[in-house]
Amino acid sequence: MIRRGLLLILSSPSGAGKSTLSRMLMAWDPTMRFSISATTRKPRPGEEEGREYYFLGKDAFLTYVRDGEMLEHAEVFGNFYGSPKAPVVKALEAGQDMLFDVDWQGAQQIGNSALGRDVVSIFILPPSIDELDRRLRTRGQDSDEVIAGRMAKSRDEISHWAEYDYVLVNKDLDATFEQLKAILTAERLKRERQPQLSAFVRSLNEEFEAR
Ligand code: ADP
Ligand code: 5GP
Repeated sequence: MIRRGLLLILSSPSGAGKSTLSRMLMAWDPTMRFSISATTRKPRPGEEEGREYYFLGKDAFLTYVRDGEMLEHAEVFGNFYGSPKAPVVKALEAGQDMLFDVDWQGAQQIGNSALGRDVVSIFILPPSIDELDRRLRTRGQDSDEVIAGRMAKSRDEISHWAEYDYVLVNKDLDATFEQLKAILTAERLKRERQPQLSAFVRSLNEEFEAR
């Protein structure tokens, strides 16, 4: 029996480091699949269609939603974001874990969906608000106006911290990454995520009997 995959959800206020941590996790474990979201926001420099996001017009996005093809969707910073359902179902059935970078609304919707029991959710906090602001600026991808909008939204995002299974304070990147790997490793070892165990214990009992 194939182990059913888990859905690892990372949320944080923008700039706290979840994209960086996601990239590190994907490089550490190539079996992990990243859920590429669809969005109506414009690509940032360096972003590629089908790698970071599927960039869609609003009409196309809303058609996917209407046709039930999004596992969840939400409006964030005036744009729509959503997680396409089909790749998730396929990955889980193949026993692959899937990583989601979604906001608190997405985390709630996935948690309340039929896949809720397969969810492991992690919230990432910045060590301080000054540092959050500094990281958004040094990332250098957004205008002052966009950064101000993201900072205003941060307070709202942070207010949902207690809805998550795990909370990490991303001060030192390497230390946070170690914690993230520890969570994934432990969650994969949960008894209910190891369907091969019954057969294995049966084989141990057969060994007892054969002695
Ligand atoms: P998010 O995806 O949460 O918006 P990013 O991963 O893009 O955030 O990180 C924002 C910026 O902060 C990036 O320039 C990234 O390199 C930097 N960063 C991430 N984690 C840390 C950390 N622990 N210490 C210092 N800088 C960090
Ligand atoms: P960004 O525009 O910086 O890439 O992402 C902005 C916010 O949208 C982040 O908080 C990110 O987690 C969230 N987001 C990205 N994709 C999705 C998605 O598919 N669904 C939801 N609900 N939020 C998403």
